[in-house]
Amino acid sequence: MKIKADRDVCIGAGNCVLAAENVFDQDDDAIVVVLVESPDDEDAESARNAVGSCPSGALSIEET
Ligand code: SF4
Repeated sequence: MKIKADRDVCIGAGNCVLAAENVFDQDDDAIVVVLVESPDDEDAESARNAVGSCPSGALSIEET
């Protein structure tokens, strides 16, 4: 899997960081930063939950 984040769409809600702190962070403007584009199995489920919990639709997963 590969995580994609559209930083122009992100509204800085922070749900992704709460759901998967190993995979996502927020910059000083609260906009999402992807820390790990291709999470290992341990973080994959939380990453999927994070993508599902994003209120703005900024996050997507590309299956590889
Ligand atoms: S959950 Fe979505 S809107 Fe919120 S910080 Fe993460 S990417 Fe941005």
